[in-house]
Amino acid sequence: MVKICCIGAGYVGGPTMAVIALKCPSIEVAVVDISITRINAWNSDQLPIYEPGLEDVVKQCRGKNLFFSTDVEKHVSEADIIFVSVNTPTKTRGLGAGKAADLTYWESAARMIADVSKSNKIVVEKSTVPVKTAEAIEKILTHNSKGINFQILSNPEFLAEGTAIQDLLKPDRVLIGGRETPDGQKAIQALKDVYAHWVPEDRILATNLWSAELSKLAANAFLAQRISSVNAMSALCEATGADVTQVSHAVGKDSRIGPKFLNASVGFGGSCFQKDILNLVYICECNGLPEVANYWKQVIKVNDYQKNRFVNRVVSSMFNTVSGKKIAVLGFAFKKDTGDTRETPAIDVCKGLLGDKARLSIYDPQVNEFKTLDYQRIYDNMRKPAFVFDGRNIVNAEKLREIGFIVYSIGKPLDPWLEDMPAVA
Ligand code: ADP
Repeated sequence: MVKICCIGAGYVGGPTMAVIALKCPSIEVAVVDISITRINAWNSDQLPIYEPGLEDVVKQCRGKNLFFSTDVEKHVSEADIIFVSVNTPTKTRGLGAGKAADLTYWESAARMIADVSKSNKIVVEKSTVPVKTAEAIEKILTHNSKGINFQILSNPEFLAEGTAIQDLLKPDRVLIGGRETPDGQKAIQALKDVYAHWVPEDRILATNLWSAELSKLAANAFLAQRISSVNAMSALCEATGADVTQVSHAVGKDSRIGPKFLNASVGFGGSCFQKDILNLVYICECNGLPEVANYWKQVIKVNDYQKNRFVNRVVSSMFNTVSGKKIAVLGFAFKKDTGDTRETPAIDVCKGLLGDKARLSIYDPQVNEFKTLDYQRIYDNMRKPAFVFDGRNIVNAEKLREIGFIVYSIGKPLDPWLEDMPAVA
């Protein structure tokens, strides 16, 4: 029986291992974490993260071939395959601060693996890490190996929060990077065998280590770039009277471009896009490629610009001050169907409003219900003029205007009220 251990019971480790356990009854999967509260939550009825379908999968496997434990060393020493999905935040101080990934957690996990291992292991990099991390980890492991053979693989996770279980059950592709040596190829095959339980073979791609690591950063950078592209267009639409929804629909009809990820909004968030791009920028700079670094940096700059623009619209339309004004923030997570608020653009928007001394009430129901609120009743209870600022273009602006609201929708022809209140970003 193959034993898998995953270090890190977070947004990546938890759902990924639950699906492996579901699809591979012959494999025993242990998810370990140093956080006792996290592990307790995974073992309870109130899982620590929300994902549609996750609870079902966990309930089917937990206690059978899926275990959550804080006994990190025991499970690591018993495992044949070890996934590492610990957090890799952006460094806040020292060399590469604000850009490079902080590999402290990764390094301590690697040293612990080397310490407790008594048999050969395949160590799989699952957290998104800078290119060539695998090489560094390999050095830590082999220099402390006591004769044990460690094979390093990179198996980046492409799941999207909010659809994690669906993405894991039907992935577009599974990427496995490894050494081009016979032992490296054997390790790739062992991990392929795990995924082959449910993923069609032509979707499992084998590459070298660095291609796998870079592909993950590149994929996230491309996705974020699309969002910044349409958001840049939204500013131009507001200035010219075009409607960004119509523009992106027309653009997306081009089959070379495609319709996905073309919704204008207040900006991208989440724990990955910004972090991964900053990482990419740092790697480019370290490799003497400042033009490439600046190109990708601009994706983040446009995202920051979009958040500022939104705050400025709110403040300028309410007579250039929100001081003491009560503002309800509907929705706080970075997108629907997730409870994750890491790096959500709502944080920057709220900070901007608080900076102008607004009074905020924040509400997030975990799933979107804002299309169907009783806006008439809400309007009746509000001070006039009453405003709605829609950062996701989900409300029916026409209906709301009929009720009497002044409505701002991103990238749409402006409400006459707003035309008289120019917002400077
Ligand atoms: P991600 O979104 O990448 O899954 P999270 O922050 O949600 O990131 O999860 C990472 C988890 O890894 C956290 O629960 C953290 O406690 C855990 N972790 C970090 N370092 C270690 C370690 N050395 N051993 C075990 N667990 C660790």
